[in-house]
Amino acid sequence: MAKYKLEYVWLDGYEPTPNLRSKTQIKEFAEFPTLEQLPMWGFDGSSTRQAEGRSSDCMLKPVAVYPDATRINGVLVMCEVMQPDGVTPHASNGRATILDDEGTWFGFEQEYFLYQDGVPLGFPKGGYPYPQGKYYTGVGFDAVGDIAREIVEEHLDLCLEAGINHEGINAEVAKGQWEFQIFGKGSKRAADEVWMARYILLRLCESYRVDVVWHCKPLGLEVDWNGSGMHCNFSTTHMREVGGQAYFEALMAAFDKYKNEHIAVYGPNNHLRLTGLHETQAIDKFNYGIANRGASIRVPHSFVNNGYKGYLEDRRPNSEGDPYKIAGRVLQTIQTVPTK
Ligand code: ADP
Ligand code: MN
Ligand code: MN
Ligand code: MN
Repeated sequence: MAKYKLEYVWLDGYEPTPNLRSKTQIKEFAEFPTLEQLPMWGFDGSSTRQAEGRSSDCMLKPVAVYPDATRINGVLVMCEVMQPDGVTPHASNGRATILDDEGTWFGFEQEYFLYQDGVPLGFPKGGYPYPQGKYYTGVGFDAVGDIAREIVEEHLDLCLEAGINHEGINAEVAKGQWEFQIFGKGSKRAADEVWMARYILLRLCESYRVDVVWHCKPLGLEVDWNGSGMHCNFSTTHMREVGGQAYFEALMAAFDKYKNEHIAVYGPNNHLRLTGLHETQAIDKFNYGIANRGASIRVPHSFVNNGYKGYLEDRRPNSEGDPYKIAGRVLQTIQTVPTK
């Protein structure tokens, strides 16, 4: 038997964006524990905006488990927050609202800024570095600075060791801005892994004295610096295997119909980012376009070439959005469209 450090991770009740919380419990296991072996646990919801002081217990239900390469016998445990009865999802529990479907696949492209002393990493004191242009996928000290790549690489390794399904990373358009992509089969998997990858990044950055800024337009509207998105690529079994132009058009009509419901869960302050500039569509408009990065939904060339089969990219979700709520909404809209 060995003593494992189980780090239970959950989302708190802050609005509009939940924060990640975690705490450790030690338990003995013969080998690395499976999800089924992990017990429910509790926490003081009055300290996380999830309960009143007089009846403050909330429950943690383990839903995914990952090896934690930063600790000896470390285990990262993603949890859903439940009511004290242990079976009713708490109001803040967005994951519980996602329709369960193994055939739905999501790929999220998480963009974010690394910040130090209140400015993006690599910005000179009291000013700006040279304008955007050479930072995106750039190389060299003047493009990416000295420690950003070290952080990003270390984060990638920790995520891969945790079994998180990264598909890639890249330096983004603004200085100090980066992206990672996570793909998952099953309606909840990629969203779980995005939250855990965010957790791992935040924790890693502590020792660098670096903050991760998820805000979608941290430098504001006035200056010509990109915002951060979290494009949501999605496909269902029907989209991949049957598809067709008629179904596609019906699907897009549903996305148009529910555009406000989508924007409501696509992350706060999105009006600052979805301006129609910087490869975005305006927040109050819905459109789609083949290979169009200025559209709400980009239709990959491959989709059309394959007879309207494959995946679509919703470009509206932002970097601060909750992937649980985004995945839940996308699936809810897809469900309204008959498949025959
Ligand atoms: P870009 O920056 O050009 O939009 P990326 O390579 O950053 O492209 O992201 C593409 C995303 O699409 C990846 O996250 C990938 O996992 C996802 N993806 C690819 N195929 C599918 C699919 N069939 N269903 C859902 N997502 C997919
Ligand atoms: Mn990308
Ligand atoms: Mn990007
Ligand atoms: Mn994209």
